[in-house]
Amino acid sequence: MSLVPRCMYCEATDGALVPVATVVGGSGPGWTHHACQACRATARVVPLAAHPWTSWGEAHYWPRLLPGSLVARLAALGDGGPELRAVSDRLFPALARAADDRVPVAERAACRTEADAAVDALWALVRRADPAGRNGPGRLTP
Ligand SMILES: [Zn+2]
Repeated sequence: MSLVPRCMYCEATDGALVPVATVVGGSGPGWTHHACQACRATARVVPLAAHPWTSWGEAHYWPRLLPGSLVARLAALGDGGPELRAVSDRLFPALARAADDRVPVAERAACRTEADAAVDALWALVRRADPAGRNGPGRLTP
């Protein structure tokens, strides 16, 4: 087993790899799965650093509410930093409650509105990071 990080989808060892999931080892520290920018876009996988607080480290995928063009621009942000995590913490719980039949209808509608607002926040985030939308490897700007 190589210690060089590889993309869990295409096995590339470069291409702006970022951690996307962790596997808990029985008694050891476990290991981390990585994904390259291209696979984060096509597989819609969420960087580990942006997992919602409810995550146990398993792979998370951007929901269909996000168009592919937004997912591709998010993939260009690398791990996305704390701003992406903050929006992810709004998006995933809101979508889960919006889809839960046990939640009253009015509250589900409010959750859907919150999820739509989170998607708007993601668009704002990628536009700040890369106003031209070139999809190149990007860095969040302060
Ligand atoms: Zn890949």
